[in-house]
Amino acid sequence: FRKPIFAANWKMNKGPSETEDFARSFLSKVQNRTFPCDIVIAPPFVSLSKAAEILGNVSSIALAAQNCSQFDSGAYTGEISAMMLKEFFVHYVILGHSERRAIYGETDEVINAKVRKARELNMKPIFCIGETLEEREAGKLEKVLRTQVSAGLQGLSERDLLDTVIAYEPVWAIGTGVTASAAQAQEAHAFVRSLVAEQFGADSAAKIRIQYGGSVKPSNAAELMACPDIDGALIGGASLEPQSFLDIIEKGA
Ligand code: 13P
Repeated sequence: FRKPIFAANWKMNKGPSETEDFARSFLSKVQNRTFPCDIVIAPPFVSLSKAAEILGNVSSIALAAQNCSQFDSGAYTGEISAMMLKEFFVHYVILGHSERRAIYGETDEVINAKVRKARELNMKPIFCIGETLEEREAGKLEKVLRTQVSAGLQGLSERDLLDTVIAYEPVWAIGTGVTASAAQAQEAHAFVRSLVAEQFGADSAAKIRIQYGGSVKPSNAAELMACPDIDGALIGGASLEPQSFLDIIEKGA
């Protein structure tokens, strides 16, 4: 049994005041309820303290950061360390998002260093992978995923692996309104699980959670989440509104 995990990736949206509005509204909807899944919210760094203030002691909700440094401290202007994030009750960190890879040039090696640093500090990485449309159309889907998984997860112990969540996000489905079909998503997830089995063994592969991301919304959540190898969702646009995020959780969990 793999507990589904639904994570809101707000990207560069919502400063502290909008975060407060969301958090109060979301809290009023989920208070005193239990969910058969993990719920994670990833606000921008500057909004973490506000989110922690309102949601920090709600047991069904955890906070995530959207990135962290691969280094501990020092002369890294503009960077935030995993150690600093822990002060904000941050338990997860999104790493290797396609926007970090494409816009900020993060390589598999850098992402691997971040994943390892997060684990060293006992944070749970949400490790993102996924192919571009060009790569898919050129028949490179499996090659791209194989490289991302093997390089990104290299050197992790089994325990560290199982505290990591993989998010499969086809780049062509992110923010486009075009969702992978359930069949396309299931096929990619099963392949990613087989890669984990090759690298870490069948037992770990059966246990690791693999989320789908890319234009997930209330109307497609149930179909995607019904696939056997899809263990939750990483949601961008549709997570910005409390009711929409909750609808996805309720339909998908
Ligand atoms: P959208 O849900 O807006 O397509 O974004 C997906 C995503 O990138 C989540 O990390």
